[in-house]
Formats: sequence, structure tokens, C-alpha cells
Amino acid sequence: MSLNGKTALVTGGGRGIGRAICLELARQGARVAVNYSGSQAAAEQTVEECRALGVEAFAIQADVADGNSVTAMVKAVIARLGRLDILVCNAGITRDNLMPLLKEDDFDAVVDTNLKGAFLCMKAAYRPMMKQKYGRIVAVSSIVGLRGNAGQTNYAASKAGLIGLSKSLAKELAGRNVTVNVVAPGFIDTNMTAALPESAQQAILATIPMGRMGATEDVAKAVAFFASDAAGYVTGQVLCVDGGMAV
Ligand code: NAP
Repeated sequence: MSLNGKTALVTGGGRGIGRAICLELARQGARVAVNYSGSQAAAEQTVEECRALGVEAFAIQADVADGNSVTAMVKAVIARLGRLDILVCNAGITRDNLMPLLKEDDFDAVVDTNLKGAFLCMKAAYRPMMKQKYGRIVAVSSIVGLRGNAGQTNYAASKAGLIGLSKSLAKELAGRNVTVNVVAPGFIDTNMTAALPESAQQAILATIPMGRMGATEDVAKAVAFFASDAAGYVTGQVLCVDGGMAV
């Protein structure tokens, strides 16, 4: 697979899974815009690592939950890179709690970032990709969006919504050679999962047929597949990268 000459925007690309996605796309030759909201130093570090792989890369700040900020970001990326071929909607947060303890703000923040954030990025990329008759959009959901999880009603709703959003957009854009697919990671080794109590981590590990956490690179390779020409006739699909958890 080669992404030589392609351009990409990865939301939340500075750290965790997003960082691995930026590096995998760069490794395959894509020029990469690394979005961050607050972690500027991490984003600059990812940019340096992409450049070391021989491609153009730059960091760009935007809160994906803010429409004006997202519109300005996509415009700036296209101005700098000339076009936008690959959009990866990866930015995401958790604010876990059992429903009686979950505040309205916790629900709104998670849905605004994870679901509305992806909607805003896809909306901003829609016309440019439609006009150029080429695009690869990949959303990072979660197996929690497919199976649900106690204590994550807000997160599961946002991640399930992302699947409906992506499938619908896949149908809207299929005739324009723009594909929209979803990667649904299971339990991946990042800050997000490191924040879970040890007992919760052990309980989740026990449910993984492969018996181990996934690496960020495992998710990045699936994203790169959907971004590649090898997946040119694949759209509206959900690929679980989860060591068998969802089976
Ligand atoms: P992480 O290490 O906590 O990273 C989250 C990323 O999202 C950061 O780069 C962060 O950038 C960015 N972000 C958060 N809010 C943002 C906003 N408003 N605007 C722009 N960027 C924002 O988490 P991760 O594990 O890498 O998760 C990445 C994605 O994978 C998420 O969508 C998550 O739900 C999904 N996922 C993760 C797992 C897992 O096991 N780790 C499993 C399933 C799905 P800043 O620091 O700059 O805000």
C-alpha cells in the first residue's frame, strides 16, 4: 500500500491512537496535518516524527466540537497542502459514570467532541472531496458503540452515533468516489485506558480472546487500509480491531 502524494488530516493526532495514525500515514508517504486541541507539545513532537519519515507535516490547533474552529482548520489544511484526500476523525474523550451520577455536562461534552466533532469535520471536508471526486474518510469509533458498556452510556451513544453518521455519509458520497468507513478499536494501550483502575483493566483483559491489549499501531494499520487504494471499493463498513472482543 502506498499513500504517496496523498494529503491527510488526523483529528487528535498528537498523541495516543491519533499519533500512531499520523505516523502510519506518513510512513506510507502521505503529507499529514496533525490536529490537536490542547496538547501542542505532543502534536509538535508527532510532526517532527512524521517529517523524519520524509513527508511534509504540520500541527494545527482546533477544538473539533467548535464549528468555526473546524471550518477554519479544514480551509487552512487545504490552503497549505493543496487538497484534502484523507480525513481521520479520531479525536475523542471519556467522562465515565453510572447514569444517576452522570451530569448533563458530561453527556454533552462527550457527544459534542466524539460525535458532533466528527460531523463538523466531515461537513467541512464534504464539498472539497465531492468536487475533487476523491476522498477517504475514516472515523474512529469503539466496540463500546456496538456492544454498550456499563458506566459509559454517554460514550457508547456517541460511538454508536458515529457509526450511523458514517454509514449515512457513505451512501451520500459513494457516487463521488468518497468512501466513509469506521474502525472500532477494543482495548488499546493509551492514556485513555491507563486512566482506568487496575481492577477494571484486569476485568477487561479477561474478556479479550487474544488475552492482551491492542497497540495503537494495530488501529493505525486498519485506518491506513481504509485510506488506501486497496480499499477503494469498500465503504460504510465497520472494522473491529479488538483481539476478538466483539466476536
Ligand atoms: P487519548 O490518548 O486520550 O487521546 C485523545 C486524543 O483526542 C488526543 O489527541 C486529544 O488531543 C484529542 N482530542 C480530545 N478532545 C479534542 C477536541 N475537542 N478537539 C480536538 N482534539 C481533541 O485517547 P486514545 O485512546 O488515543 O483515543 C483516540 C480515539 O480512539 C478516541 O476517539 C477514542 O474514543 C477511541 N478509542 C480508544 C480506545 C482505547 O482503548 N484507547 C478504544 C476504542 C476507541 P488534545 O490532547 O490536544 O486535546
